Amino acid sequence: MIDPRRNATALRVVIDRERCIGSENCVASAPSVFRLDAEGKAVLLDPSTVDIETLRLVAEICPTEAIVLEDDAGNQVFPG
Ligand code: SF4
Repeated sequence: MIDPRRNATALRVVIDRERCIGSENCVASAPSVFRLDAEGKAVLLDPSTVDIETLRLVAEICPTEAIVLEDDAGNQVFPG
């Protein structure tokens, strides 16, 4: 299941739940944005609580590239 939300700065965050292995890297780095659900998969809370650079850094430390970032035009900006 894809769970898209939009950052206040218009960056779209998508978690690919098929790829998520529940490592919690994202939760540890940005607990206001990510949490694990009952299935042990990441879900989004409020991406607007952090800036774009933080979202990018968190996406980069996801071991399975399950955090996908898209710009306003729907272009994938990470993973590149
Ligand atoms: S860092 Fe990636 S694999 Fe780990 S819980 Fe977050 S989305 Fe899932």
